[in-house]
Amino acid sequence: MWALGIEGTAHTCGVGIVDETCRVLANVYDMIKPEKGGIHPREAANHHAEVVVPLIRKAADVAGIELSDIDLVAFSQGPGLGPCLRTVATAARALALSLDVPILGVNHCVAHLEIGRGITAAKDPVLLYVSGGNTQVIAFARGRYRVFGETLDIGVGNLLDKFARECGLPFPGGPILEKLAQDGTALVPLPYRVKGMDVAFSGLLTAALALRKQGASIEDLAFSMQEIAFAMLTEVTERAMAHLDNEEVLLGGGVARNRRLQAMIARMASDRGARMFVPPGDLCIDNGAMIAWTGLLMHRSGIRMGIDQTAVDQRFRTDQVAVSWR
Ligand code: AMP
Ligand code: MG
Repeated sequence: MWALGIEGTAHTCGVGIVDETCRVLANVYDMIKPEKGGIHPREAANHHAEVVVPLIRKAADVAGIELSDIDLVAFSQGPGLGPCLRTVATAARALALSLDVPILGVNHCVAHLEIGRGITAAKDPVLLYVSGGNTQVIAFARGRYRVFGETLDIGVGNLLDKFARECGLPFPGGPILEKLAQDGTALVPLPYRVKGMDVAFSGLLTAALALRKQGASIEDLAFSMQEIAFAMLTEVTERAMAHLDNEEVLLGGGVARNRRLQAMIARMASDRGARMFVPPGDLCIDNGAMIAWTGLLMHRSGIRMGIDQTAVDQRFRTDQVAVSWR
């Protein structure tokens, strides 16, 4: 069985094709990079509308199959930016109808977790999902993926991107700051905000920008932001693992590519006799393969959707999904 997945919740439009063993046959994508400012939902949606059909063709080429060989079409149903979600949902409906195959809407956050389980040896991990717009600690409990902790304001990727943007660096800022942080020498004081199981980053952003105006070096600030923000994430992830008595931690989302975050989580995991799993970078960021794989799991467990059930949901919560495939 071959499933094709279309991702398009935010800046990235991606198309992936997987088989029933989670072999990734294709995983192609195109990301909108705004010249200046943040991501405008309408512009991102126009971008997705332009690239989605070529990406579908390209995915089939890379996989070495005909589109008529596809058995299932899955798409990111939410959470995300409304115009982007509607654009890829329309593409998915048109493709599924023209191929006469089933269509399934997939929760984007659940897909980050499932591709990690599919591609690594993790069986029942606590997921630290760290991307541009989302920051959540997720684990399976009583039939659902539950959010044990999350950001109260902006995603950690957004913190890095916004700081970089204000410093005149291009999007995405996270990887650039990671390089600059290697030349940081001083830990400057920045607010550490953990509230119960949740984290907050906007105060950290404001403080870092104020210090930048006062002349603090961008290398020291990049270093310090990483140390403080990632320590906050490590703390709440560890608390979720302790609470659940869970010995696996999985990273997902674009910020999971950061070596310093990986090192901090790995250290925490090894200190408690646990293991850390990190999917390859192309499966950490928003991607179509994770949507395809989660759709395939859902389909295999008997889930079906009529076209009338494929409306998008900008605020689709992780724990709204009844996980019937586990
Ligand atoms: P996603 O939203 O999951 O597609 O991931 C995109 C986010 O990941 C953006 O906010 C990027 O700045 C961030 N990102 C990507 N690579 C890195 C990195 N090496 N270090 C920190 N952030 C990163
Ligand atoms: Mg994501």
